[in-house]
Amino acid sequence: MYKIGFTDFSEEYRKATEEEHFGCHEIAPRKSVVCVYFPSRNMKLSYYNDSFDLKRGDLVFVEGKLEGLRGRVVDVTYNFKIKLSDYKRVISVADTNVRGEFFFAGSHFVTFDRSTLPYDKVVTWFKAPEKEDEVFVSGNDDSGFPLSNLGAMKISRNAADRGHDYYRENRVRYLSLDGTHVRGIVEGSRPYEVECDYIDGEIRNLVCDCFCSEPCKHGFAVMLQLKETLELIEKHYPERFEEMRYFASVCKGTLLDFAMEGKETGSIVF
Ligand SMILES: [Zn+2]
Repeated sequence: MYKIGFTDFSEEYRKATEEEHFGCHEIAPRKSVVCVYFPSRNMKLSYYNDSFDLKRGDLVFVEGKLEGLRGRVVDVTYNFKIKLSDYKRVISVADTNVRGEFFFAGSHFVTFDRSTLPYDKVVTWFKAPEKEDEVFVSGNDDSGFPLSNLGAMKISRNAADRGHDYYRENRVRYLSLDGTHVRGIVEGSRPYEVECDYIDGEIRNLVCDCFCSEPCKHGFAVMLQLKETLELIEKHYPERFEEMRYFASVCKGTLLDFAMEGKETGSIVF
């Protein structure tokens, strides 16, 4: 069992930290027609935007046939007259403003400050918000397994092998542990969100939004990444973690791609 990890997690504490998480910075929208490049399809298309103040370099998600694919704004036009029915809209923009201190932890960077890289911000890098009419249900059987013994996880050999590949390929792009709650983003054929509790060295209530009904490769990859990250933190930064009861970890390449790529201004300190 790991020395670090927490048992108790008070409600006031959760509330206080939620308030710290500043969500999207509210900027008045400015109508535009934007040209968006989709790297995964090597395609450029124009969209109407009336919800955001979009700039060149912004990462966006759109409606229409390229829904769910990340695109980058390559051109913005404010002076236009269009027939609305000819255009699909931009539906979300990634919040890639990152400010804070990161520590090296293997293939990932870690931060112990809740405002540096909160889950709600990072998830906008990977996904458009869920549609409001979408309903999700989940259940759990309260059974757990120790993080130190993943052999006790009821997972098929095939899923475990695939999960191990995902872990080695650094497909666990993001991982956070806030008190006892773990959240991870795994990029497979699409981004998947994994959640669980980590209490007294034990993993409980592990769920993934690939909506499989049994333990999946995404969950297994997150377990391996969590184990590695906790070991590195225990070795190198135990006091910071004890003090904050929080860490967020991001794949180095992911932070570079999102927080730095395509930006004209900003700074980095080493
Ligand atoms: Zn899954």
